[in-house]
Amino acid sequence: MKLSFTNHTLYFKRPFKIAHGTRSSTAIVIVQLEHDGKIGYGEASMPPYLGESHESVATFLKSASPLIEQCKNPFEWEAILSEIDLLAPNNTSAKASIDIALHDLMGKIKNKPCWQMFQADKNTTPYTAYTLGIDEQEIIKQKIVDGDEFKILKVKLNGENDKAIINTIRSVSNKPIAIDVNQGWKNKEEALEMIQWLADKNVLFVEQPLAKNNWDDAHWLFEKSPLPLFADESIQRYTDIDKVKACFHGINIKLMKCTGMHEAFKMIQKAREVNLKVLIGCMSETSCAISAAAQLSPFADYADLDGALLIKNNLFEGITFADGKIVLSDMSGIGVTPKENN
Ligand code: MG
Repeated sequence: MKLSFTNHTLYFKRPFKIAHGTRSSTAIVIVQLEHDGKIGYGEASMPPYLGESHESVATFLKSASPLIEQCKNPFEWEAILSEIDLLAPNNTSAKASIDIALHDLMGKIKNKPCWQMFQADKNTTPYTAYTLGIDEQEIIKQKIVDGDEFKILKVKLNGENDKAIINTIRSVSNKPIAIDVNQGWKNKEEALEMIQWLADKNVLFVEQPLAKNNWDDAHWLFEKSPLPLFADESIQRYTDIDKVKACFHGINIKLMKCTGMHEAFKMIQKAREVNLKVLIGCMSETSCAISAAAQLSPFADYADLDGALLIKNNLFEGITFADGKIVLSDMSGIGVTPKENN
């Protein structure tokens, strides 16, 4: 197999406000794995909080390249992925880009979609949530109109105008809301007070209410919360599940945090064993990585895979939505085609 990659920047349609600031673009890397005339595509997306960059991903991919070139059989994927994981700690999105490309390549060689290789039922995909950022009232209302086809709203809160944002939404929509605080509430008492206020407002769950390493307060909140709590920044990989299960009702699994489809699938199985709900999420990504995550979405309770809809320069055609429900195609691999002129 041969590995190559290119750096890109994705630009958001609207600047994206979360608890810790505003972002207008994100760095990504597109990976190609070539074997026997077939090409598998993968992607690394690097949100600042995971500490990866174009440079760090390039360094990691160059270090992985000899291992990949030595490998003559992509179906030795389990050995390849575990060797790659051992090359260096962290670098989870760089690792995910190889994992995704390898799954895409294997699907193309077998002429099978990845959802079928994972034995998923493509008819049981969830609805994706549609993200509303922290914005002015009129913009929030307009975004709700723009996202009319979607059945679940995902709302970012940061502890500043939270009640006003929810009241604005509720003045125009009764759709179920998933809340994402991105670690933005300052303390457990404030968090509990807000969750109690949200409890009768058709809210599905609250994601990452407190700072990611604040385990004592997370546990305190878990015992008192009238709404399910989901870990996002508090969980990255399979080995984190045991710690998280005492403090949250569910986990947000993202390929960029957990090194890709293989580990995400293992995490879903483990979450089921320990009675955690599963949300499959994404970073700001093209339809390449989003379509990879979507292959596993039939196993999830919830999905938050609207990332590619929020960017101006999506580099791939991939999964689509029908009235907000994820539609998996019968295309082989992760089901993506690069757009021309990108
Ligand atoms: Mg989140």
